[in-house]
Amino acid sequence: MKKIIGLILFLHFVLLQAAFGQYRCGSQLLPQNIVRDNVSGTRLFESWLRNTSQAVGNQLLTNSAASDSALLYIPVVFHVIYNTAPSGNDTFNIPNERLQEQIAILNNDFQRKSGTPGFNESPISANARIEFRFANRDPQGNETDGIVRVNGGRNNWELSSDIQLKALSCWPTDKYLNVWVVNSLGLLGWAQYPPATSGNPGTTTDSSTDGVVVKYSGVGNAPNIFSPYHRGRTLTHEIGHYLGLLHVWGDQEDCSGNDFCNDTPPQAGPVERCPTIRNTCSTPNGDLIPNYMQYSDDICMNMFTVDQVLRMRRVLRNAPRRLPLLTSPGLVLSNKSTIASNLRCYPNPASDKVIIEGLTSLEKIQITFADLLGRKYQPNFDTTSGKVVVSVSKLPRGMYFVGVENESKHFTFRIIVK
Ligand SMILES: [Zn+2]
Repeated sequence: MKKIIGLILFLHFVLLQAAFGQYRCGSQLLPQNIVRDNVSGTRLFESWLRNTSQAVGNQLLTNSAASDSALLYIPVVFHVIYNTAPSGNDTFNIPNERLQEQIAILNNDFQRKSGTPGFNESPISANARIEFRFANRDPQGNETDGIVRVNGGRNNWELSSDIQLKALSCWPTDKYLNVWVVNSLGLLGWAQYPPATSGNPGTTTDSSTDGVVVKYSGVGNAPNIFSPYHRGRTLTHEIGHYLGLLHVWGDQEDCSGNDFCNDTPPQAGPVERCPTIRNTCSTPNGDLIPNYMQYSDDICMNMFTVDQVLRMRRVLRNAPRRLPLLTSPGLVLSNKSTIASNLRCYPNPASDKVIIEGLTSLEKIQITFADLLGRKYQPNFDTTSGKVVVSVSKLPRGMYFVGVENESKHFTFRIIVK
């Protein structure tokens, strides 16, 4: 027994060492990004991005997040690259639950959801209003759970094997956010930066490698042995890069770096661990420790700033291979998996009113009735009682598909009006 305990302690020690010895992020070293990240590439990208502000409205010039409040949906496909070769380790083949947890973590973080680790009361913190969903249609239009599993035949993937990795499995990178889940000894993750206009010499145009790579041990709520990178924040950070964010210290160690966000103070190099205070550039409030674009531990991260949110949304609404995500055929929003489990609609058949109960929010609800010929009606409804009370007395008799949607959910049910 002593031997077994000794072995467990030894393994625990080895795994802890492995976790602490890792670099959080390799994005700035990815060959595809280096072109974008050199001086002329940065100048071209930033110039392009600034000029997009005219095209999407004044909200980007006035710096007000509120005037662009739409929830933006991004379909995600996970490629889980495991290894069952003779010397392989299929613990990399993490279960669906971890991927589901990861999607929930992303939505907590990108929507600054109260009551979750993604909430923060800081006045410079903002809700990015981005929702990640498992793709529910594959590139051929077939139903999918948005998860692909591939035996990659090797245990480790690094920046240098990025192209071979992505050649194993990749969905069109302008329709899906591709996330490759791998084992990587040196890095927790890396992301490809967004391109500006195609053909721009300062930007990558490499569509076959676009997306995010994440180490399996950092996905979802992973076991404590993978602490401190075990609460899904690696992917929050990497998707920040994928949507155009840079590290808050601008990848410089001497306060001279620029992440092109005015509300993230200058900082000399990354924050690591969870210091209560750190002020490397003598700024009024010190380094922004809880920012997702730091290297801090997962449990200390909980904010994107207003400027970071504006930058991500501007990229998402303009960049090639980002804008088309918003209208991707990979995401059919009437996904039944979003139906609230306690939803009730009654009476059915109905002649006067239909009552819908169980919605988690009554804000910005839209109700649409469609008959069997596809004709649409938008009957009056009232939510003052805390339920949705729909008046159907003026609708022609017959069967209807009723669509109920708010900013984050859409579902349908059938009802007969008699
Ligand atoms: Zn990074």
